[in-house]
Amino acid sequence: MKGMTRRELEITDRAEIRDILDKCGYLHLGLCDGDEPYVVPMNYGYEMDDDGRLTFYLHGAVWGRKLDIMRKNPKIFAEMECDIQPFTGDVACRYGLAYRSLMARGQAVFIDDPAEKMRALSILMKTQTGGDFTFTENLVKVVSIIRLDISEYTAKCRPLPKARPAKEDAE
Ligand SMILES: Cc1cc2nc3c(=O)[nH]c(=O)nc-3n(C[C@H](O)[C@H](O)[C@H](O)COP(=O)(O)OP(=O)(O)OC[C@H]3O[C@@H](n4cnc5c(N)ncnc54)[C@H](O)[C@@H]3O)c2cc1C
Repeated sequence: MKGMTRRELEITDRAEIRDILDKCGYLHLGLCDGDEPYVVPMNYGYEMDDDGRLTFYLHGAVWGRKLDIMRKNPKIFAEMECDIQPFTGDVACRYGLAYRSLMARGQAVFIDDPAEKMRALSILMKTQTGGDFTFTENLVKVVSIIRLDISEYTAKCRPLPKARPAKEDAE
């Protein structure tokens, strides 16, 4: 992934990245429909292994545009954000938003194996609710499960601006 322009805002600490993944709850899934971009919001479950490798699980209906696109082109790009806090300033260019966000690229894989589908849904519910849920084979028949194998990701934090000294404000 291309390096971040504001390198000083990059988050590399795994615990903080996990915190973003726990908080966001849904992501914006970017796909390529031929030469036309398509973006669709989706809830997710995630797993991160000891090496920081990241996997997402998505679920939904068994038909629809996003599925048609991913069958033709499994390349994906995803973005999510949390902790949005607008701030004001004395001039227009000092207004802004504090946020934490994550971007990832990877490949979509359709999961057909019922046992893997049940596991994916349990992970999704764990991420979404913090709770432990189990699923039956009959239940997973009626949903599609997509695994996103993430090859690269970056996370960023734009904090609230520091209070400016009174002297500077007076200038
Ligand atoms: C916060 C959030 C979380 C969501 N989580 C999930 C999830 O986990 N799983 C899931 O399957 N769906 C989820 N949805 C719904 C999802 O965004 C899509 O509406 C749905 O998945 C259908 O997508 P599709 O590509 O199959 O569209 P289709 O049903 O095939 O429809 C195609 C067309 O309908 C329009 N359309 C589709 N979705 C939307 C939309 N959300 N808003 C406006 N226009 C739309 C577009 O013009 C699109 O080209 C979520 C939506 C939101 C806002």
